[in-house]
Amino acid sequence: MTAAEVIARKRAGRAHSRAEIEYLVRGATDGSIPDFQLAAWLMAVCFQGMTGDETAWLTEAMAASGKMLDLQVRWPDVVDKHSTGGVGDKTTLVLVPMLAAAGVHVAKMSGRALGFSGGTIDKLESIPGLRTGLSEREFLDQVDRIGLAVASQSDDLAPADGKLYALRDLTATVESLPLIASSIMSKKLACRAGRLVLDVKVGAGAFMKTPEDARALADAMVYIGRDAGVRTSAVLSDMSQPEGRAIGNALEVREAVEVLQGGGPADVLELCKVLASALGVEGVERTIASGAAFEKLQAVVEAQGGDLGALDRPDGLPRAGLQQEVCAAASGYVAAVDAEALGRAAMALGAGRVAKGQAVDPAVGLVLRAKVGDAVRRGQPLVEVHANDRAKLDTVLAALPSAFLYSDRPVAAPEQATAIISAS
Ligand code: URA
Repeated sequence: MTAAEVIARKRAGRAHSRAEIEYLVRGATDGSIPDFQLAAWLMAVCFQGMTGDETAWLTEAMAASGKMLDLQVRWPDVVDKHSTGGVGDKTTLVLVPMLAAAGVHVAKMSGRALGFSGGTIDKLESIPGLRTGLSEREFLDQVDRIGLAVASQSDDLAPADGKLYALRDLTATVESLPLIASSIMSKKLACRAGRLVLDVKVGAGAFMKTPEDARALADAMVYIGRDAGVRTSAVLSDMSQPEGRAIGNALEVREAVEVLQGGGPADVLELCKVLASALGVEGVERTIASGAAFEKLQAVVEAQGGDLGALDRPDGLPRAGLQQEVCAAASGYVAAVDAEALGRAAMALGAGRVAKGQAVDPAVGLVLRAKVGDAVRRGQPLVEVHANDRAKLDTVLAALPSAFLYSDRPVAAPEQATAIISAS
């Protein structure tokens, strides 16, 4: 078998054998297949697609290309969740303490922000002192001790995906459903939980802009998970407007704490309940009423070296030096809040990164004062901008008003979870 033969096969629209896929992934991992051939193959996949079986084989080969942690052998009840990313998505910060407080083990590997969507690791690192670069030993011991750890994904997890994802980024081959599904799931299978829920966001502030695309991605990932023996389900959730009200690292941690203490925006808790239920964990809201979920977050912060007091003191988390409001240009009902525009505004303030490796500013971001369906009067605050740089603040202040649309008539708030897909 040669790489040229494998590329030619896909270029002709034919399906690969498992051996061909494993050959390619081995070549990507050990460097024996050069980048130009891998890139040609990725482009052929973009045009010709892959079958469900090919996608599942690619996923398993990438998952097996590096270190594997079979978490479900260690803890039969261990659960995992993954979000395809969205603006203001702080679901992990709320959901995983609730799940752990409800008594299941949660060993979560998370990523950093890239583009206009945030990343759990950057959010957690806004808590002073908190470490996410845990060694494997620290990670496993912490889950044994307190039932929950959230660590940044190490480079030796699914290295073949790391290699192919970087090439896709440079060759305009990210947008391929089987490549996206296998990339996400390879990292999930490399640290295999017994149950997995996928939060597939749909709308302007998400990777998938239409319900059809989101559904197709969710179906593909659920198929892969089931094929690999992980009980996988997916929830399609609305991302036409941001999740909750806060966008930006420390601001989102503050909002997650509010939800865990029984307050905060209802949509965040609602989505967490749906995701927990998809994992087979019912009644998680009781862990908020009892205080157990917040105590679990405190235990994680303490275990990972963070300043515990930061969660309770109003000035405990980083705060931006400049704060200014944007007010409604008209009276009426808020008909649309453009999640992508707000995500880009938060990124422009420094909350996110354009390229891997850039630093983020933990303090900056936005807090929405109005969401879709709310009645507003002209001049009423719509959004608070938190900035550390006057020029960036001015740019964002100029751009934000066009992110809001109004209607004279009442507008219904969008449904939070639009579909739940379970493996049969
Ligand atoms: N996230 C991933 O991990 N991989 C993709 O291909 C797209 C989003």
